[in-house]
Amino acid sequence: MPLAKLIAGLLLAATALPALSQEVVVYSARNEQLIKPLFDAYTRETGVPIRFITDKEGPLLARLKAEGRNTRADMLLTVDAGNLWQASEESLLRPTRSRALEASVPKHLRDPDNEWFGLSVRARTIIYNPNRVKPTELSTYEDLADPKWKGRLCLRTSKKVYNQSLVAMMIHEYGEDRTEATVRGWISNLATAPFPDDTQAMQAVAAGQCDLTLVNTYYYGRLMEKDPNLPLAIFWPNQAVKDRSTGVHVNISGVGITRHARNPAGAQKLIEWLASEKAQNLFADVNMEYPVNPRVSPDPKVAAWGSFRQNLVNVKEAGSLQAKAVRLMDRAGYK
Ligand code: FE
Repeated sequence: MPLAKLIAGLLLAATALPALSQEVVVYSARNEQLIKPLFDAYTRETGVPIRFITDKEGPLLARLKAEGRNTRADMLLTVDAGNLWQASEESLLRPTRSRALEASVPKHLRDPDNEWFGLSVRARTIIYNPNRVKPTELSTYEDLADPKWKGRLCLRTSKKVYNQSLVAMMIHEYGEDRTEATVRGWISNLATAPFPDDTQAMQAVAAGQCDLTLVNTYYYGRLMEKDPNLPLAIFWPNQAVKDRSTGVHVNISGVGITRHARNPAGAQKLIEWLASEKAQNLFADVNMEYPVNPRVSPDPKVAAWGSFRQNLVNVKEAGSLQAKAVRLMDRAGYK
């Protein structure tokens, strides 16, 4: 009898286990409103439940670190390669080999060691006031250091990882000396102190406080949706091949499987699905971003901003050169 009981118990455990391990737990720095519709669609399609918590990337990384091997998180979803690189540096992620992900995510938008993968592309580009600037006057990020822009440039604060990543990628391309000269030029061209966010910098351009700024395009999309009459236009810099221009600075929102995931196989399936043609529009369009998957077209609203050549340097450099970028911006007086 005890043996039968034991067998029954074992059977119960064996049938209960797969169901339990099916659940995927996600720590997400991306807002609930951006991810919940996707997760719901995945659960409808596969029957796999997804549990998630959302917070800012700092607290999420700290929590993962503190929880160590006791964490319930299978997956970390966040924005900016700088943050994903950081998570990987702190040994919070594990590598995943996946042919599906190699096919869906271009090489420069995923970790060479396979610890994280981009899921959407964000472009950081020039926004200008067409009443005050002709697009023919614009060319590159570096050109914004030219004295012709004196008193005409607005920038977001250097404290934001987006600008740290942009400067890090410039260091990779041009070296520290040339990048520092550029950043110093930007600072001497500022119309006013840096803004806390991209939207305020664009509002200053629209209000005539300055003539141009650098933002992630989804902020432009959101602002123009609210007020389509604002005098703001997009310019894609560094497009000319002949001047060794590097393309538009891109970054990612992306994902990695945690080092201590209990359900790494389930997490991998979910990531493969998120990068697939089926889910990519859902993932990118909801925030007016670009799909990573080259077989998927952006939302027509986003496509209307025009196509551009993107910088093909691996976005991990945004992480590996981040500390240098922060020090450089500090030296150059970029607040
Ligand atoms: Fe953002």
